[in-house]
Amino acid sequence: MTKSSLSKVRVRFAPSPTGSLHIGGLRTALFNYFFARRHSGAFVLRIEDTDQARFVREAEWDILSGLKWAGIEPDEGPQQGGDFGPYRQSERQAMYALYAQQLIDEGHAYYAFDTPEEIEAMRERFATEENPSPKYDATTRGEMTNSLGLSGEEVRERIERGDAHVIRLKVDPGGRITFQDHIRGRVSFSTGGIDDQVLIKSDGMPTYHLANVVDDHAMGITHVIRGEEWLSSTPKHILLYQALGWEPPEMAHMPLIMNPGGKGKLSKRHAETQGLPVTVEQCQLAGYEPEAVINFLALLGWNPGDDKEIFSLDEMAELFSLDRVNGGGVQFDVNKINWFNQQYVRGFSVDQLLERAEPHVRKNASAWAAGFFKGEERRRQIAALMQPRITFSKDLSETGGYFFEDPTTYDEAAVKKRWKEGSAELLSAYADRLGAASDFDAAQAEAMLRALAEERGAGAGRIIHPVRLAVSGVPGGPSLFDMMEVLGREVCVRRIRKAVEVLG
Ligand code: GLU
Repeated sequence: MTKSSLSKVRVRFAPSPTGSLHIGGLRTALFNYFFARRHSGAFVLRIEDTDQARFVREAEWDILSGLKWAGIEPDEGPQQGGDFGPYRQSERQAMYALYAQQLIDEGHAYYAFDTPEEIEAMRERFATEENPSPKYDATTRGEMTNSLGLSGEEVRERIERGDAHVIRLKVDPGGRITFQDHIRGRVSFSTGGIDDQVLIKSDGMPTYHLANVVDDHAMGITHVIRGEEWLSSTPKHILLYQALGWEPPEMAHMPLIMNPGGKGKLSKRHAETQGLPVTVEQCQLAGYEPEAVINFLALLGWNPGDDKEIFSLDEMAELFSLDRVNGGGVQFDVNKINWFNQQYVRGFSVDQLLERAEPHVRKNASAWAAGFFKGEERRRQIAALMQPRITFSKDLSETGGYFFEDPTTYDEAAVKKRWKEGSAELLSAYADRLGAASDFDAAQAEAMLRALAEERGAGAGRIIHPVRLAVSGVPGGPSLFDMMEVLGREVCVRRIRKAVEVLG
């Protein structure tokens, strides 16, 4: 019977705080979160901060706030606490040293005193054509300076004297490590290809491998769900579990997120040159809604089994299963993430949309920003008109300034195309009629325009397009007549007369 069938499901997201939360990391966190929810288990956040050189202090905050933004706060973690803490590896150092000592005492690990230069010299000495870069392993360890060859006394002396040293795992080269991966099926590695892993570095800190295994065990993790880039570490971890006499958790390695076009793993450089949002921070700045981002990410590799694409977090947590995650790499498609965003923006209630737009509007010194806070009813009318035409809630603050200010310029290309001989006369006549009418709303404005066009034997487009240009200054936008109703009669008449004057 496996460990997981006996105990409550416990999964973890174990990022190294080296920078902004990457969307690949967020996807890993999401799949772990779904799995925990689906199995009424616990979702643990563990900060893997043992690599002092790459450590970035703000990154932990960034990770936490990114998870919060996505709506997937951990059940246990450095902020939440829990029975298995501390949840930062830098605070668990004593435990790693203890297990490293146990491995040495039981003959599974040893001290090694070689300098980087000595290791380099060994590589040169043993290099052959088939093996140009020999490893520190069973074939070479006998030639090196380590506790396997030195007397106990000499080892003690060197350590007391403060000689730099590491602790390495003694890997038996004749074995094979085979495990069942929930996503990739049976995976098998020969131990001949694995070097004697460093477990404790010369600064006394554990390596990723040791700390990861000790913590997954100590925190009762039942399933390790992580990116494919960690697959080759898994046999090393399993060797460690065996040496420590522990049962490994179940494994699931998620497909890589690839560059658009499918060439290689999604890279920072590629993302930068193409303007793809690849960190949570970039998603926020670009104005993506969290619901859209998580929906997009969840379907990068997971296939819920039908054609439906829009899922709430709760729905996904309910449906999620590892069997429906495919092993092959998945491409990051910016059109797709934008499509998701548009779907969410269109699905919001007007009030929701305004709520999401508000922080962007506040940052933006546009006409909208000035007009936004003037009247709630008006704001709602405008948002409702714009909603079917925008992709981001922040588009509200960046287009449609004409609802608040008379245009001062007219789109040049549109003028060329739409402002014809006779436009000025037709528009003046239209403005006269609007001004004289007993009533004014969208239907009235439309009826008057069509009647005028008919009388003059002109197509309605001959008036509609230049009127749009006159009232908004731009060629596209919501339905002209709805827009005119929101603007009000006085404003429309004023703007049409102004355009006639300016464009002639
Ligand atoms: N600290 C590793 C990372 O940055 C964790 C990998 C794992 O989940 O084991 O992703």
